[in-house]
Amino acid sequence: MEQRARVSVKHFGWKLQLMNLNQTEIEKFDSLASQWWDKQGGFKTLHDINPLRANWIDNIFPVAKRQLLDVGCGGGILSESMAQRGALVTGIDAGKQSIKTANLHKLESGLSIDYVVSTAEDFAEKRPEQFDVITCLEMLEHVPDPRSVVDACANLAKPGGAVFFSTINRNAKSYLMAILGAEYVLRLLPVGTHKYSGFIRPSELSSWMREMNLEVQSITGLEYDLVGRRYRLNPTNVDVNYMICATKPL
Ligand code: SAH
Repeated sequence: MEQRARVSVKHFGWKLQLMNLNQTEIEKFDSLASQWWDKQGGFKTLHDINPLRANWIDNIFPVAKRQLLDVGCGGGILSESMAQRGALVTGIDAGKQSIKTANLHKLESGLSIDYVVSTAEDFAEKRPEQFDVITCLEMLEHVPDPRSVVDACANLAKPGGAVFFSTINRNAKSYLMAILGAEYVLRLLPVGTHKYSGFIRPSELSSWMREMNLEVQSITGLEYDLVGRRYRLNPTNVDVNYMICATKPL
């Protein structure tokens, strides 16, 4: 009996690996799900950077009336701002509690968004090449195999569509700023939010994008101004947080 339980736990772990899911990560976000819309809570930083990233995306690829898929949407912070700009938004996340929060909040905001509990890989099998815009922000650093998510996002985009990613660079400065500084000193993020090994260099991310036949168009950094205590875009500083945009050729 014990033997069988062990086998099935092992099998389950293997299945999660196949699904490219880190269950601990999903549970971490799900346990904070009630805080998604608390602008002073655990996701304060996402609220602070949201107008910057939403404008950057909308300026590069105007989203109004476009089918947009938000991968790893959490409680819907970016999904809602894209829907407010007129995009026809679908949001997916592996966390059931996060999707529950997103569904409740869209009612409060009076927005129409289709939220689904799913990984990017599963969704790519069901709905390939159906979206004009894919956004996958602050999610790649939380999955076991980020390259597989890039692959799925490339498949989900229509030819002629655009794919946006954001994540954190991997170097001594990003360790100091994004982990020690943001989690322990400035307390901008809950301790344990990020693991250094999950960080991704822009060169790695862009090479995966190119392997999937995406054409990298633009990259920008998001830097924290210690004096003004606010974030701003800086295309010449991708040392820590950065966003990257690519198009899928027709
Ligand atoms: N993109 C949102 C939330 C970022 S937090 C924003 O920027 O506002 C990271 C989110 O990714 C969490 O909600 C977590 O549940 C989700 N996530 C992590 N791994 C995932 C996976 N393999 N598939 C789908 N969602 C995942």
